[in-house]
Order: sequence, then C-alpha cells, then structure tokens
Amino acid sequence: VVGPRQSINLLHLRPFTLHSNRYHRGHSTNRVEYRAAATITSERERARTVAAYYNQPAVEAAAKKKSVRLTPSAILYHGRSEDEATILRSAQYLQKEMPVRVAKRIMAFRDLPFIVGCNPIILGVHELYLRAFNILNNFPAINTKEDEVSYSRKLSELLEDHQDVVTQLASGFRECRRHIHNEELVARFLDKTLTSRLGIRMLVQHHLSLRENKPNYVGIINVGMKLKEVIERSCQFVSRVASHKYGRVPLLKLSGHVNAAFPYIELPLDYILPEILKNAVRATVESHSEIEVMHLPPIHITIASNEIDFIIRISDRGGGIPHHLTKRALEYNFTTANDGATSSPPAFSGTSSPEGVFSNMIEAVNPNPVGGPMHGFGFGLPTSRAYAEYMGGSLEVQAMQGIGTDVYLRLKHINSPGAEKEITRCYSS
Ligand code: ADP
Ligand code: MG
Repeated sequence: VVGPRQSINLLHLRPFTLHSNRYHRGHSTNRVEYRAAATITSERERARTVAAYYNQPAVEAAAKKKSVRLTPSAILYHGRSEDEATILRSAQYLQKEMPVRVAKRIMAFRDLPFIVGCNPIILGVHELYLRAFNILNNFPAINTKEDEVSYSRKLSELLEDHQDVVTQLASGFRECRRHIHNEELVARFLDKTLTSRLGIRMLVQHHLSLRENKPNYVGIINVGMKLKEVIERSCQFVSRVASHKYGRVPLLKLSGHVNAAFPYIELPLDYILPEILKNAVRATVESHSEIEVMHLPPIHITIASNEIDFIIRISDRGGGIPHHLTKRALEYNFTTANDGATSSPPAFSGTSSPEGVFSNMIEAVNPNPVGGPMHGFGFGLPTSRAYAEYMGGSLEVQAMQGIGTDVYLRLKHINSPGAEKEITRCYSS
C-alpha cells in the first residue's frame, strides 16, 4: 500500500518513469497511486501544488526576503500575556515569516544534484514544501479572532503533514546518495533543511501553545524545566523500544545536578536524548552476549548545570566506536546497522508503508507503547549534532575503543550572557 504522502509525486514521476523504471521500483502502479492521492488531496489542491512547482516568481521573491528573528529571551519576557491581541500578533508574525522560510527550503531542493532531486521520496518532500508554501502564501490576511483560529488550524494540519519528513529524507538519501560522493554537499543540505525544519516547528508550536495557556509555560518555553524529568521521559521511551527489540535493557543511571531546573525548550531535547540513548543501549546490548544479560553494564547519564550552559554526558560500556569509523559515525546515512549485527527491517521495502515502519523516529518521544526503530538510518548522530549546534550548543562523541563511548551534549541557557546571540539562530531560518 502506498502512503498518501508519496502519492503526491505522481505528476512529476510520470515523465521521468518514461526514461527510467528504476525510480519507480517499490511503488505500486500509477493507477493505485493516483486513486490514493485522490482520496486525500482534492483535484484543485493538486493542481495548485503543481502550478506552484512552476510558479518560480512567488517562491523566488519570498526566498529573497529576510527572515525576521524572534529570540527565546524576547518570547520569555514579552510573550507572557496570552491575551487575544498577543495571539493575533503572533499569527500575523507567522503569516509573514513562514512563506519566507519555506521558500528558502524550496530553493535548496532545487539546488540539489539532479540524481538526488529526482528521487521519488525526496521529490515527495519537495512537493510537501511547495504545498505548504502555497497554502501559507495564499492565506488571506489575518485580522480577526476567527481568521486566527482558521490559520492556526491550518498550521496544525501542516505540522501533522510534515511529521515524517526526517524519516523520508533519511530513506530518500539512503536510496540515492551513493551516486554523489560529496559528503559535504549532503551534509550542508541536510543540516540546513533539518535545522530549519526544527526552527519552523518550534515557531509554529510556540504559537499554538500560546493559545493553550499552559501553566509554567510561555508558549513552548517551559519556564522551570526540570532536566531530570525530560531525561527520564527519554529513558522510558528508549527502554520500551529496546525491550521490545532485544528483550533486555541495561540500567540507565542518572547523577550530577539532578535537581537542575531552568527555562528551556523541550522539543530539541526530546529528539536528541532518545537518539543518543538508543545508540548507547544498542552498543551495550550488542557487545554483550545473551548469557551476560544479568551483567549488562549500566549507562551513566550525568548532568551539570552552571551559569552559562548545561551539559549532559551519556556514557556507555558498549565497546566504543572503532578508530576508523569514529569520524564517519557523524556522517548522514552512516550506520553499522546492516552489517549483520542486527535484524532491523530492510531500508525501504516496497511492502511496508513508511508511516508504519519509521514514523516514530521523528518526534522520538512518542506515546506509542511500542516505539520506532532502534537504529538503521544513520541519522541519529548527525541530526542531533546539527540540532545542538543550531541551539547554540554542541555534541561531541568520545570513544574509548575497547571500553565504551561518551557523548557530551552541551546547550547554552536561554538567559546566559551571550546566549541570546547564539540561540537566536533557533528562530532564524
Ligand atoms: P544509527 O543508529 O541509525 O546507526 P546513528 O547516527 O545514531 O545512526 O549512529 C551511527 C553509527 O555510529 C551507528 O550505526 C554505530 O555504528 C555508531 N555509534 C553511535 N553511537 C555509538 C555508541 N554509543 N557506541 C558504539 N557505536 C556507536
Ligand atoms: Mg542511532
């Protein structure tokens, strides 16, 4: 069964499949795709999407505009009143800002090497952005509360529609990147696309949360975030995924400044922490035989919080990363998951819908009891590092070959001196 999001490709695939069948492998017939598409997207909307594909001037004009930044500190100190006027202003800001950011992403898709840009999955994501641009750019001016309500509804729909984008890019690039040997080109595109997506999602969720008026939050900023709770949430998620996959899970021990509480945004942590923990758990389990199940060495998570930043170190005793692979571990699509060590599902089999198999990787902390895959895309580390740097921090991997691995995640406090300048980037395009 072809997922609805892939089916939007159809119109662009058709001419291409005339030349090469390769790009169509793993997908059902055109007829089936077409029907699937018709059920989710009205003909008119499809026509508009296609028109937008060629509507260069609108995208180009928007892409040239400067993105208007909004810093977390500004939000924290000025966004406290959740009255109607604030929410209306917030929607008006988004209405100006979103098409610009989305247009810049579309330009980046256009700049991809032909062989990559034509990959059906990547093309599908490209079209998702075009569709979003179209919807956002054509939305009538927001003047009343009712306008704001319908704009916000559109925004939540778009968030939902773009939920699987990271997974789609991961599988798309896995399919076609062997044709390009320029790692830097891939890294630049993915760093930018993924971090910009994070920034957009933070902005949108910030606006949507402002309307909810949750206690202790200013939009998406948790004004007294207890770091321990965020980490524990990720530990529980990863333990669930791992016990489903392996039937055994090492202990996850937390120490250091376990009472640290400060204002921060949970969204990036909810992606980064599970990815690092999954790697640590996998290495621990796979480097110890099943007889050693009682003696799996624990994974130590240490937190430190100071005036400037907070640091999370995750140490495992999973044997480390071999010398010749330490640099590559941070490359997109580099994984040791397919070398026989695991029984993870194949990359992108035609029979499994992407929604079903990969969906949980994106917003990793998922209420779903049986979580997403442990590994397999080679996206966990590079994406986490890109997110950390985008937030004005860093992610470092230190392997002690023969023993284990330490991963250091450092993030600046929102109110630390000088942090504002760096963290500003999380609200820039
Ligand atoms: P994936 O988990 O999908 O393979 P990642 O980007 O998360 O992708 O990790 C890339 C590779 O780096 C892994 O396949 C593994 O070989 C190596 N790696 C990452 N973390 C660890 C770790 N803690 N111990 C040993 N190897 C690791
Ligand atoms: Mg991983």
